[in-house]
Amino acid sequence: MSDMSPTTIDFDTVTGASEAADPLTRTLKSLDGYFYDADAFSAAMAEDDALIYEYFDMGVPETSGNVAYGTTSIKPGKVGDEYFMTKGHFHTVLDTAEVYYCLSGHGGMMMETPEGKVEWREMKKGDVVYVPGRWAHRSINISATEPFVMFFAFPGHAGHDYGTIATKGFRKLMVERDGKPTMVDNPRWNG
Ligand code: MN
Repeated sequence: MSDMSPTTIDFDTVTGASEAADPLTRTLKSLDGYFYDADAFSAAMAEDDALIYEYFDMGVPETSGNVAYGTTSIKPGKVGDEYFMTKGHFHTVLDTAEVYYCLSGHGGMMMETPEGKVEWREMKKGDVVYVPGRWAHRSINISATEPFVMFFAFPGHAGHDYGTIATKGFRKLMVERDGKPTMVDNPRWNG
């Protein structure tokens, strides 16, 4: 099949890589400083450097003609009352979008622009969220029991800017209040 393909990448190589790829994992330790409750974070770390999320990146070449894609799975759990989540990022090429499709579980996408607009989109199996260019995005699992699993796709040349969020944080957080997922101001926001 690959000799019939006009693409710059070998079809069999890319699809084969998807089967062989190991997941990239993020444990609690790698999220030091991301959860607002530092005491709860220390207590959780003392117990176990637990797996928070993992993702499969299919290794598509990082060029504008390609579509990078993969899956991500966020485990259920909380640090204090804040739900397990990804680090979150802007794209280095800021004006590049991304599509997320929920495969299973119950979670959502926290999004914000550099100017301070905020959007939270709850997601269940079959829901799609389109993250427009310029919006930082973080996936959050609000289920107490199930992993939150999504398929994602974005322009190959987008790049990842994790530093801005690592420094400033998101303006809003998702925490459990009175047994329900609730969006609150981030007391440690550093914008
Ligand atoms: Mn992204």
